[in-house]
Amino acid sequence: MECDKCDRDAVMHAGYSGAHLCENHFCASVEKRVRGRIRKDSLVPRDATPEDPEHWVIGLSGGKDSVVLTHILDETFGKDPRIEMMALTIHEGIEGYRDESVDACVELAADLQMRHELVTYEEEFGVRMDDVAREDPENMAPCAYCGVFRRDLLENYAEEFGADKLLTGHNLDDEAETALMNVLEGDVKQMAKHFDASLGPFDERNPTDDFVPRAKPLRDIPEKEVALYAHLKDLPAHITECPHASEAFRGEIQELMLDLEDRHPGTRHSIMSGYEEVAEMAADRYRGGDDDVDLNDCERCGSKTARDVCRKCRLLESIRAV
Ligand code: SF4
Ligand code: ZN
Repeated sequence: MECDKCDRDAVMHAGYSGAHLCENHFCASVEKRVRGRIRKDSLVPRDATPEDPEHWVIGLSGGKDSVVLTHILDETFGKDPRIEMMALTIHEGIEGYRDESVDACVELAADLQMRHELVTYEEEFGVRMDDVAREDPENMAPCAYCGVFRRDLLENYAEEFGADKLLTGHNLDDEAETALMNVLEGDVKQMAKHFDASLGPFDERNPTDDFVPRAKPLRDIPEKEVALYAHLKDLPAHITECPHASEAFRGEIQELMLDLEDRHPGTRHSIMSGYEEVAEMAADRYRGGDDDVDLNDCERCGSKTARDVCRKCRLLESIRAV
């Protein structure tokens, strides 16, 4: 099959748009969509100047998504004096898995000459995910602990490094799955939070002062296209799956979504466009209402929490009690 735009061989066919593209035109199309998203979400503030630049911290895990994100951001803004970027990697303490992906992060950051910081659960909390998964004092899935710890470190370090925004590599499949999960769980408040935290144009959201706001520039790009881009550009991405991956419900949604997309191309895009609108309405409705709890500082660690002691500190306590 030939590329729609030139006479080279197509490397991909997008069922949802009908496009056949060669390597060059495919890569250009991914980059164009990412830049388009950055513009639509107004991630570069108008008042950013070389004297007073905008600071971005990129969550870099070494998987294909965050590697592609970091690469495209560097290509786009690497020489732009209005934007200062650095990468932040979290090591969860997962033998054989995270060590290799950290190598990918170090390699990429060195290639791009980008500042790179590594923080570990072990140094920060004195725990390793391999031990947590084995001991499991709360009888939960490993990801339920891991997600709380990762969020805490990303937020606290983004703040410590003076980030105006925290950018993560979530792709279209990730976002459509989260949207569908929120709908199927009937969780309207979660939709409202999802919108304010990371969807929609930046100036229409209402990120609180308590957290560094998030942005997801890859959220229009299907997972397969992110993987193909990483492969074609020969980026140092690490692709094996975490041995503790266990989000059962998300797994089911993932299968359902792939099946739907196969039979009805464009499903993920249409889920997201409808969901974003509904999530924005939900955000408007809940803002400033009775449910808008004031956050305190955790008694132990100072993180923002609606309780006296934050969830991370409570989980750490039960892990240490084993
Ligand atoms: Fe942590 Fe789960 Fe991700 Fe593994 S799959 S790194 S346990 S959140
Ligand atoms: Zn705490």
